[in-house]
Amino acid sequence: MTDKRYDPKSLKAEEFINDKEIRDTLKYAEENKNNIELIDSIIDKARPKKNGNETVCAGLTHREASVLLACDIPEKIEEIYRVAEEIKLAYYGNRIVIFAPLYLSNYCVNGCLYCPYHNQNKDIPRKKLTQDEVRAEVIALQDMGHKRLAIESGEDPVNNPIEYILECIDTIYSVHHKNGDIRRVNVNIAATTVENYRKLKDAGIGTYILFQETYHKEGYEKLHPTGPKHNYAYHTEAMDRAMEGGIDDVGLGVLFGLDMYRYEFAGLLMHAEHLEAVHGVGPHTISVPRVKRAADIDPSDFDNSISDEMFAKITACIRLAVPYTGIIISTRESEQVREKLLRLGVSQVSGGSRTSVGGYAEAERPHDTEQFDVSDQRTLDEVVSWLMDNGHIPSFCTACYREGRTGDRFMSFCKSGQILNFCHPNALMTLAEYLADYAEPDTKEKGVRFIERELERVPKENVKEIAKQNVRDIFEAGRRDFRF
Ligand code: SAM
Repeated sequence: MTDKRYDPKSLKAEEFINDKEIRDTLKYAEENKNNIELIDSIIDKARPKKNGNETVCAGLTHREASVLLACDIPEKIEEIYRVAEEIKLAYYGNRIVIFAPLYLSNYCVNGCLYCPYHNQNKDIPRKKLTQDEVRAEVIALQDMGHKRLAIESGEDPVNNPIEYILECIDTIYSVHHKNGDIRRVNVNIAATTVENYRKLKDAGIGTYILFQETYHKEGYEKLHPTGPKHNYAYHTEAMDRAMEGGIDDVGLGVLFGLDMYRYEFAGLLMHAEHLEAVHGVGPHTISVPRVKRAADIDPSDFDNSISDEMFAKITACIRLAVPYTGIIISTRESEQVREKLLRLGVSQVSGGSRTSVGGYAEAERPHDTEQFDVSDQRTLDEVVSWLMDNGHIPSFCTACYREGRTGDRFMSFCKSGQILNFCHPNALMTLAEYLADYAEPDTKEKGVRFIERELERVPKENVKEIAKQNVRDIFEAGRRDFRF
């Protein structure tokens, strides 16, 4: 491999995700993993600090965060976990945003070795939703209580062209079943052109999500032997094209278990640093999926799978390094793993998910077109109830996006310490809608008391009074969709 120079501001994949810089980082981390003085100073740098009304978290560089990830001193790991929780509470409060994936099509021309959609798989029934089927899926999702979706699709320019994706987005936003409403559609589709990103932006999407899968170029090329996704540079530079196309909020992710986790971790943070350096705004979200069993995929084929403990540490270190980003954990993980990670900086979870094309409209969970096995198979209502039992506010809020608080405006809002005055009551009002329209009686009873307690924490008296009145209006007057 020729020696490319490292430059976070470069628009070339191999310069902003630079192999040599990653290898030097890993060496530095290994050499310093017992350097207590350095470790303490890095943890201290990451800790939230008060600056007047603002809470400031400095974040960490990929080198600093890599030292923490390499460190295996139990007391230091405990401290990293504590700081991760402090940062999450400082920026996001105790809210956890809820969403569901919606699978549109599993037609795919790529050959990804870890994904059952790969085009060599002749056993999986191929399916693409018609617009009527999209409507049926959205009605089923609205009837569960969902307000925010992430649409997913394989890559296939003939079966799933951008026009198909745009038509589906239109259909999703057009469905209003009873009090149901999808208020934010995030999109997880293959890397595409600036022109197509502009079309997605114009269709009113929230976040554009694209997982890098692995930052290790050679590993990437082996894992994606055929199809357009084989092109490492085109995939890695996708977020820059998305931002050029006007999309403010982009979501990064690594599919943990495919390559060396420390390498992936450093690469992921370098990607975040690159976005900040070039566009002045880092990733809106970071997802932390792990490879799961799926039709014709056995995770043990990938010998880099990571333990639950290591997975927790990776998540906490991401929270310290990129304090303002939303961290997403899906139903790929079990209830137990999710519960632990919720204390270490996670701010968004999926709930009641089905990963098969057309799965929500079916009474029984279908398995034949699933993308991967869902570990957490609880209903949305069970997830909502569990979050409250653990002291988290289940939030269906989409206010920031709808008020134009995206990109750098969201970041400065996040940093300004206004969360308790805006996001907290907003989350509670959307929870009240969920309880009024969709909750089981026990969840509703628990939730009403939970909202009463949480509303008392709103600092500004006038905001608190308005929020209380709005909650009363939701339950007693049938009014909906309040936001600050
Ligand atoms: N096709 C799009 C692309 O090329 O990026 C994205 C949609 S795909 C449905 C969403 C993500 O699912 C992939 O980016 C991959 O990380 C993840 N995925 C694929 N196979 C998986 C598996 N066996 N276990 C867990 N996640 C998997």
